[in-house]
Amino acid sequence: MPKVPAVILNNGVEMPRLGFGVWQVPDRRARKAVATALEAGYRSIDTAAVYGNEKGTGKALAASGLPREELFVTTKLWNSDQGYDSALRALDTSLGKLGLDYVDLYLIHWPQPARDAYPETWRAFERIAADGRARAIGVSNFQPAHLDRLIDGSGVVPAVNQIELHPRLPQAELREQHARHGIATEAWSPLGQGKGLLDNPLIARIAARHGRTPAQVVLRWHLQLGNVVIPKSVTPSRIRENIDVFDFELPAADMAELAGLDDGTRLGPHPDRVG
Ligand code: NAD
Repeated sequence: MPKVPAVILNNGVEMPRLGFGVWQVPDRRARKAVATALEAGYRSIDTAAVYGNEKGTGKALAASGLPREELFVTTKLWNSDQGYDSALRALDTSLGKLGLDYVDLYLIHWPQPARDAYPETWRAFERIAADGRARAIGVSNFQPAHLDRLIDGSGVVPAVNQIELHPRLPQAELREQHARHGIATEAWSPLGQGKGLLDNPLIARIAARHGRTPAQVVLRWHLQLGNVVIPKSVTPSRIRENIDVFDFELPAADMAELAGLDDGTRLGPHPDRVG
């Protein structure tokens, strides 16, 4: 079974560098998909209140029989729950559905700058961390200005910023800012959601050279940039394929060629416009 290395977050907590994402997996299918991932060696699971599958995810975690301390569970606060009291309540609800006493990582899902509630939400997250209900706290889809405001206003640096990141959108500016502040970069839609990116002829050529699949090449590209990745699949063979990426390396020449795929394509909305 592949051994997944960890990144040490800025509060000393260890997070697996590769996990399993469950966006768009219906609750009734989440139990089986997460169980397959755990059997394949994944220990980190990325869900969110808005995905509607925290219950199915929690059932798979419980049924696995794995010790809680071997698992790394992330969930996210949905936009409508931003605010101090509402954030505290939202975590109660998520923990209830997951069947857990604590999560390993709790993220503010979107900054919603027009609403301007994220600094207050972050105060609730500080309390959540102090109470041990999340071992680490972080954000998702935060832009440079949002990170600056949180850090300057609270002095508490998010452990993680989970952002859209794949070869067509390598997010150099954010990765650089994260490195300066000791924030781990976590890539969502790391495979570019499959279609299109994984059919790219350059990626196919590199994959053929290494006797690997396009998905494995893209995941290696992420890992070699220093990103945490959370690929999603409900297909058992792909779930196994996506974690089998720790026994080969892309040479610098391949990394340079892949850098040429940056064309700024976003699959999701620009975070400034999610209200
Ligand atoms: P992804 O880039 O992981 O791509 C998933 C799709 O790629 C699958 O549905 C499948 O069609 C295809 N695929 C997966 N493995 C493959 C393989 N080995 N070979 C060929 N095709 C393969 O996309 P994603 O699900 O959007 O992102 C991953 C995770 O990131 C999500 O499940 C979720 O946990 C997280 N996410 C977070 C946010 C956020 O706002 N924070 C937004 C989107 C996704």
